[in-house]
Formats: sequence, structure tokens, C-alpha cells
Amino acid sequence: MRRHPIALALTTLLVLSALWPLPSLLDAVTGAPPGDADLTRPFLYLLMAPLTNLLDALTFLSLARAQALVATWMVALALWGLLRPGSWRLRMGRAALGIGTMLFLVGATLALPRPVPRLVTADSSAVVLDYHAHTAASHDGRKRWTAADLADWHAAQGFQASYVTDHNLLFTQRVEQPIRLLPGVEWSVYRQHVVALSPATAIDRDSFSRDTPAMLRLFAELHRQGSLGIASLPEYWDHHREDLDAFVAAGVDGFEIVNCAPKGLAFPSQARRDILDLAGPNDLLVTGASDNHGWGKVTCVWNVTHPGEQGFKANHVFARPLALAQGDLPAWNAAVTQPWLMLRGLSGSERVSWLTWIAVVTLYLAQPRRQGQPAGLGILARSVSARRPEDAPEG
Ligand SMILES: [Zn+2]
Repeated sequence: MRRHPIALALTTLLVLSALWPLPSLLDAVTGAPPGDADLTRPFLYLLMAPLTNLLDALTFLSLARAQALVATWMVALALWGLLRPGSWRLRMGRAALGIGTMLFLVGATLALPRPVPRLVTADSSAVVLDYHAHTAASHDGRKRWTAADLADWHAAQGFQASYVTDHNLLFTQRVEQPIRLLPGVEWSVYRQHVVALSPATAIDRDSFSRDTPAMLRLFAELHRQGSLGIASLPEYWDHHREDLDAFVAAGVDGFEIVNCAPKGLAFPSQARRDILDLAGPNDLLVTGASDNHGWGKVTCVWNVTHPGEQGFKANHVFARPLALAQGDLPAWNAAVTQPWLMLRGLSGSERVSWLTWIAVVTLYLAQPRRQGQPAGLGILARSVSARRPEDAPEG
């Protein structure tokens, strides 16, 4: 065990974190695990759990915590490489490897194809819905991220429908497979983004972009079109905290209470409670938004909704606890708190997968070997060279 301190530390953390488990999902309104919905994880997701869990945990970081985590681990791995004994060349190589590993993880989090968890609900009359997502038509959308890509992304995670809400551009395509895409738009008006659901026509944005009272008139305009207007995160919290009663008076139909974009994830839980105190008595919709722009493979939130119902009770917002915690955790400790929360959130099968990988890697590294031969690959090289004479094809 003394020869494998990393394996020992990881095993200890896996066992300790199981003493303070976190559920896979939380109802963002009640704070309790949902009774009739859960995540299922494909076999390949479980098989690769140390990688898939890590990449998911890196996805659910607020912007400030993402920057702090990457910077801290880069410096730590580089220092670890530099300070271990060896020639200068070796030390510099190890430091570069540490930095390269972090860069790989960032790239993999954003773009590596991989299996993803999927929401399943026992409620057959409900629809699993996303209220807010983008395609390449948005100025900040991923290039070539088509509506079909977006529909595939949603379907893999258990969504049955999604509004497409590109910035200031009505979605008019018909997409029915693998899931139905619904028309929407995200209007940028005075210091606020408003997600319009099923908008009929474009608006003259200038007339809503002068000041707060002008912006608030947008909700009545959306109602004239037969559309609903949802106030987006993080804008209403960053810029209009004092105006929220005026939002309600002006006819806002609902508020986002979870938004998975890095800026939206910084929304604190006390603020979420304040919005619930406003939305509940006024019977307003509260929603979760993937706010997907084509980057990242996993959503942090799903809506389980009943078509035809309206108001506060019509929609259930189920989110990953790691995402809900972002707004309450300081940035500086992200390098430690994010992995710890990830480990606490592991399901039983994920924990078994982690422990199996640790055992396999440790046994591999512990194989007896001749002096001077490197671990692992040395054994492989020996067995290959020992077999080669018989296996070599003639001629
Ligand atoms: Zn958006």
C-alpha cells in the first residue's frame, strides 16, 4: 500500500464519500430527491465511470469555479512534476504532461463524444422538456451545431421535446425526430434576456431596449402573439434584482430557476428561494434550462411537465446536486470541493466501477518485473518480443 499512495488515497476517498452520499437528482423547488424520476446510466457510461464522472463534474462548474479549478490543478500537477527527483529533462517533461492532461480534460469536457446519463420518469402522462437551447444560428452557438444535432443531444439524455431559442431569431424548422423541436426565441432587450415560447412573429427590439419600463412591455407584446415570456438567468438576477415585482406586474409568465450555462450556474440557492417565494403565490412557471450552445455533452437539468397545465405546479425541475451547489461555493476551493462533491454523488455501480479500475491499475503496476524494466509496458514488450519468432510470417 505504501508503494501505491494514489490508489490508497483514492480508495479511502471513495469509501469516505459514501458516508455522505448525494442523490443523482434533486427537485429544485422542494430540495428533495424526486419520487418518480431518476437517472439511468448506460453500460458504457458505468464501464468508463472514472472518465465519464470526471467529465460530467467538470461540465457542472460555474465560470469562476471552472477557471479556478483548471488553474489550481495545472499549477499543482506542474509543480508535482518539477519537484519529483530526476533529470531536468524528465522533470520538465512531467510538468508538461501535467499541464497537457488538464488541457485534454477541458477539451474532452467540451467536445469528446461519450455516453451520458438519461432521465426516466415513471409518470407516463408527463413530457420531459427543455425550455431553452441554441443552435449554430446563435452568434455564440457552436459552428455547424444543427437543429438535428441538438435533437440528438436531447434525445440521448431522455428529453422528449425542446424549445429552440436562438438569440433574436425565430426558429421555424420542422424537426420531429428523434424528438420534437418547438419554436422559440431568446430576445435580448434592455439588460435582460427573455425566452419566448411559441412566438408568432418577430418584434421591434429597439422599442424594448431603451430602459427597464420599455423592456417590461415585452411581456404584454408576447401575450398579444399568444406566446409566453420567461425571464432568463443570469440577467434578471445580475441586472434586475430590484425590478422583479415589476416583472410580475408586467405579466412575466415565469422565471428560470436553474440554467446550466457557466454564468447561469453561479445563481445562489438563496436567490432561488426568493424567486420561488415570488413565483409560488403568483402562480408563475419556474423552469430549468440546459441553455446548450453545442458545447458539453450533459445537461444539469430536466423539466418534467404536464401538457395543458399551467402555472407554478405544472412543471417539475429536476437538477444535478453538483450544479445546484455552484452558486453557494467559493471559486478558490473548486479544485477540492468539485471532486469531493462528485465522489459523494456516485451511485453504487459507479463506485464499484471506480474501485475495479483502481484495483486493475494497481495490480498492473505491481506486476513483478526485472530490474531496470519499466512498469506495465515493459511486461507487454517482453511478451511481444518473446512471441515474435514463432508468430513472424514467412517470406
Ligand atoms: Zn441562451
